[in-house]
Amino acid sequence: MEIIGNQNILEHLRKIARNGQEAPSYLFSGPKGVGKFLTARWFCAAVLCTNPDIDDFSPPCGNCSACRRVKSGNHPDISILGNQSTRASKNSPGIRTKATKEIDENKDDKKAHKMSIGIEEVREGIAQMQTCSFEGGYRFWIIDEAQRLTNEAQNALLKTLEEPPASLILILIVQPGGQLLPTVTSRCRPLNFRPLNLKELSSYLQSQGFDHYKAETAAHISGGSLGLALNFLQNTQLWDRRTKLFELLNKLKGSSLWNALSTASSIEGLCSGATAKEQLAELIEMAASFYRDALCLKVGGPQDLLVNVDNLENLSKLAQESTITYLKNALESWQAAGNTYLPRNVNTKLYLQKICLDCC
Ligand SMILES: [Zn+2]
Repeated sequence: MEIIGNQNILEHLRKIARNGQEAPSYLFSGPKGVGKFLTARWFCAAVLCTNPDIDDFSPPCGNCSACRRVKSGNHPDISILGNQSTRASKNSPGIRTKATKEIDENKDDKKAHKMSIGIEEVREGIAQMQTCSFEGGYRFWIIDEAQRLTNEAQNALLKTLEEPPASLILILIVQPGGQLLPTVTSRCRPLNFRPLNLKELSSYLQSQGFDHYKAETAAHISGGSLGLALNFLQNTQLWDRRTKLFELLNKLKGSSLWNALSTASSIEGLCSGATAKEQLAELIEMAASFYRDALCLKVGGPQDLLVNVDNLENLSKLAQESTITYLKNALESWQAAGNTYLPRNVNTKLYLQKICLDCC
């Protein structure tokens, strides 16, 4: 169970596992993809491990039966509610709830992802937590994407947070922008995860077999999120769309109005299927990062601030051939698109045409 970064949090949790329980409820917050859920599972293993290193009692060992079952998602004393339960709870009767089954049965991940976690699911979990642990030790309840709990569901949790069963450890995981009621957060020990160091993340990705440029680029694009970096590297269609987008942007400056309109329709044409709108939102963000990098080069900013390090040659050329005003305007156009495109029901074609005309 390898966890990159946030070693201070791991050390803190290791001490808790070694010395006894510090608090019954924890609130894990921080950027997406930095290992919050993995750390929660690692903490479960650290507490449940039956064979810690005898000399320095440094759990988890990773090899005992408890550690192996935590890793495979099959430990009966770990219950998971929320998004991760769709993957982690398979084949594990001890950690399936009605909510989990509903998500399992729903083949549409996107729909499942948007579901709120209601009071009935929380009540079901609370009832489960009142029973003794299966193996006589601690039992864990992890609520992933806890920001999806309705206010009613959060209020239903309050009594458990105030008077938890003696052997229960509750971990609430919230994603960025997600908020819980102050009455809930004030009853939890907060642990704030940080983005990973980009060099460390890039080295890790290279150690997993990704080539230098892709690893560097993915580390920068993800802003220090291993989950997002891996998602990017493994999504070849996304990588292809990005390559084609940058080819189009490289030819945009100084081109004719007709070419700008044609570029707009080519960019729109890169996105297809049910997730076309989300794909376009990603491309808009990538285009903004493209011009942000060129502007950074133009004003002599440090290269480690660049996101698209695999496009250095083209970006340098664009920076040389452009004025600061042009790059600033282009960046602002794409940024404004990112801020307003998704929330509004705009005419995509006209919208892209306007931006491309701004950049030609
Ligand atoms: Zn162990």
